[in-house]
Amino acid sequence: MTTLPGTSVPTRLDLTLDGGALTAQLVDFPSVSGEEEALADAVEQALRELPHLTVQRYGNNVVARTELGRGERVLLAGHLDTVPIADNLPSRVEGDLLWGCGTSDMKSGVAVQLRLAATLPDPNRDLTFVFYDCEEIEAARNGLGRLAAEHPDWLAADFAVLMEPSGAMVEGGCQGTMRIRIRLTGVRAHAARAWLGDNAIHHAAEVLGRLAAYQPRTVLIDGLEYREGLNAVDIRGGVAGNVIPDECQVTVNFRYAPDRGPADAEAHLREVFAGFDLEVTDSAPGALPGLDRPAAKAFVAATGGRARAKYGWTDVARFSALGVPAVNYGPGDPNLAHKRDEHCSLSAIAECEERLHAWLTGPTA
Ligand SMILES: [Zn+2]
Repeated sequence: MTTLPGTSVPTRLDLTLDGGALTAQLVDFPSVSGEEEALADAVEQALRELPHLTVQRYGNNVVARTELGRGERVLLAGHLDTVPIADNLPSRVEGDLLWGCGTSDMKSGVAVQLRLAATLPDPNRDLTFVFYDCEEIEAARNGLGRLAAEHPDWLAADFAVLMEPSGAMVEGGCQGTMRIRIRLTGVRAHAARAWLGDNAIHHAAEVLGRLAAYQPRTVLIDGLEYREGLNAVDIRGGVAGNVIPDECQVTVNFRYAPDRGPADAEAHLREVFAGFDLEVTDSAPGALPGLDRPAAKAFVAATGGRARAKYGWTDVARFSALGVPAVNYGPGDPNLAHKRDEHCSLSAIAECEERLHAWLTGPTA
C-alpha cells in the first residue's frame, strides 16, 4: 500500500482489494467531518481511472455515473466523514471483525460503493455513486444537502440506496418529525392569595391529558409498518416558590409516518390541541420508502426480501424531497456507530457487495 512517508496514512485507494481490505484502507484515511479533502481526492482519483464512469466534484463531494441509456437509474450514496477519532486508528483485523473509527459508520458502505463502481462497467441499470462530506455535523454543512441545493440534477434517479449501517436489513424511508411549543398563560399572584391568580402550570394538565389519551396511528406503507408517536419532551414554568405562575410551556414532539407531509402534520396537531396557543419550532419531513418501484422491488428481493421501516430521521429524506424514493442498506451495525469500540463484520461487507452486485447484474423485469 502507498503511504505518506513516515506514517501509515495511505495516499491512494486500491479498488482491486476485496471489500474488507478496502474498508481498512478507507478507515486508515482519517476523515473527521470538515477534514475529508484528502479522502475525497483519493476517491475522485480512483474513480477517474475507471473509463466507464463520468466523474464530477463539488467541494469535497464526488459524484460518478454511468451513461448507458438504461431504463432506470439507481443511486448509491455514502458519507466520507466520521465522528472524531477515539484512539481507534489505525484499523486492525481480529478474526471476522475489522475494528476502527468509521468501520460501521460508514466506510464499509463506502467500500462497497467503490467496489461496485470498479466492477460494474456494464450494469443492468444506470448507476450514480455519490460520496459526500459533513454528514456527522450540523445540517447546514451536509454535503448531500449542498449537492441537492446546487446540483440537484446530479442526484436525479428512480431509486436511491443510502449505505448507512443497517445491519444488512433494508430500512425503508424515514419518519417525519415536528416539534411544537404550547404556551399556557394565567395570572401571577402571591401563593398565599392564590384566588387572586390563575395558575398557568395547572392549565398544562389539559395538554398532558390529551397526550395521555392520544392513540397514535400505525400505518402500513409498501408493506412496512410505521408507528407514530406524540410525546411531551419538555415542560417549563414557575416563577418562585411563593408565586402563582402566569406562564408555562410544553414542548411536544410528533414523529409521523411518511404518508403525511409537514402541512398535514401541523394541521393534525392544531386539531389535537384545538383551543391552545401553539407554535411549530422545528420540522423535518419524512421519506416514503418507494418500495413499489420496479428497481426497489428487485432490490428487496436481491437483499433477502426483508425490509423494515426506518425509525428516526436520516438523509434518505433529502432524496425524498427531490422526488427520489430511498432506503438505508449497509453492512455496518447501527448500534456500533460512533462508539470507541466500533467494528464491522468482514463477511457482512462481502455479503452486502455480493447482493448489490447480483441486483445490478440480474434481470430487471
Ligand atoms: Zn453515518
